[in-house]
Formats: sequence, C-alpha cells, structure tokens
Amino acid sequence: MKRQAGVLVVEDEPAIAELIAVNLRHNGFAPTLAQDGAAAQRALDAVLPDVILLDWMLPGESGLSLARRWRGAARTKAVPIIMLTARSDEADRVAGLDAGADDYISKPFSTKEMLARIRAVLRRRAPEQADQTVQLANLLLDSATHRVAFNEQMLKLGPTEFKLLQFLMNHPERVHSRSQLLDRVWGDHVYLEERTVDVHIKRLRETLGEAASMIETVRGAGYRATAKPASTTGATWSGDFSPT
Ligand code: CA
Repeated sequence: MKRQAGVLVVEDEPAIAELIAVNLRHNGFAPTLAQDGAAAQRALDAVLPDVILLDWMLPGESGLSLARRWRGAARTKAVPIIMLTARSDEADRVAGLDAGADDYISKPFSTKEMLARIRAVLRRRAPEQADQTVQLANLLLDSATHRVAFNEQMLKLGPTEFKLLQFLMNHPERVHSRSQLLDRVWGDHVYLEERTVDVHIKRLRETLGEAASMIETVRGAGYRATAKPASTTGATWSGDFSPT
C-alpha cells in the first residue's frame, strides 16, 4: 500500500485551486486547499505536506513572503515549495528561488508539467528527509554519520552503495525496479544503464557479508531490502545478475 503524497495548494482563485486539486487527486496525490497565507499556516500547523504549491499573488501576505517565512521556520524548512505565478520574468524567477522556492511554474501550465515538477522535487528531497538512523533486523544505518553496522560491527561502504542501501532500508520489504532505483538513488536526468544497479548491488552485498541476504533479488522485478530473507545461505543472491 503506497502512501499518498500530501500537497498543500495555496491559491486564492477557486476555479484554479479546484482544477489543480482534481488533477492531483486523479493522479494519486492528496491535496489540501488554502486560499491565503493564514489558512495555509493553519494547514501546516496541523499536518506537514510533502510539497507546497504556492501562488505568488495572494490576498494579504504574498507567496514570496510566505516562502521566505516557511523556509526560515524549523517545522517547514524541509518542505519543498513550488511557486505558481503568471510572472515569468527572469528577475521574478530569481526572487522566488532566492526566497527558498524549490521550483517555479508559470501560469498557464499543463497538468503534465505540474505533475512532473512535483515528482521531481519529491525525488530530490527524498534523500535529505532521511537524515536519521534506520534499522532492519540487526542492520543499522545512520544517515547523519554515514555509518553502517551489522551485529554492531562497522561496515565500510562506498558512497553509491551507501545511498543505495539507505534508499532500500528507508523503503523496506518493497520491490524496487532497476529504473526506479536509478531514478531515486542516482537522481534526476541521469541516463545510466540498468546494469549499473546490478553492479552496485553486487558490491553492496560483498560489503554486507553476512547481511547480504537481506538484499534480495526479485526475479524480473528488481531488488528489495528485507528483515526476513527467504534464504540465509546466500545461494540465491551470489552473483545473481538477472538477464536483461
Ligand atoms: Ca492569485
């Protein structure tokens, strides 16, 4: 079961707000609407969204001012903000980004563009949100110190293997395809062969030693991290490069 990403839509024009909300809902997001800064603040105090779509021109406090304020507040500083605006001047764009917006969409925009930008900021933010310790059975990963330990023994991982393990452990028991892993671990707009994933999975398992069986190959589907490996002998994972 996939959790729906929450999107706070701060937009004072009801027709536009409703159109955005309908499109978000239709595409698997959970929108919340606010028509001005005060309503948006109440929504943020109640539940933190995964991303904020923020109109520039609002009654009362402007979107630009809100972006600056939310970026400066401890509770909201990590929430991605996408500014919506009819202003498309370079200077305005820079002002929006300077205020702390992550991205910018010029009105009028297509649903496709809006969704692409939302997904892009969510992907970019994902590794930063995971600034914590995750544990899966006896495997421990500390994002703040970049340390990995199994049965209290420190393991030395390369940077890519660390990011890969971090992603898999943050989304345990779920199968991730090679293209999803390329997208989420290697980042946007990186064009790499899917075999790259296999190479790093192999290295990761070599480093994990006894814990290697916790990184399972799901034939024809991808990889997953599991606390309950199907096999603890290591026979199923050793050098298991699925045919492409
Ligand atoms: Ca407006």
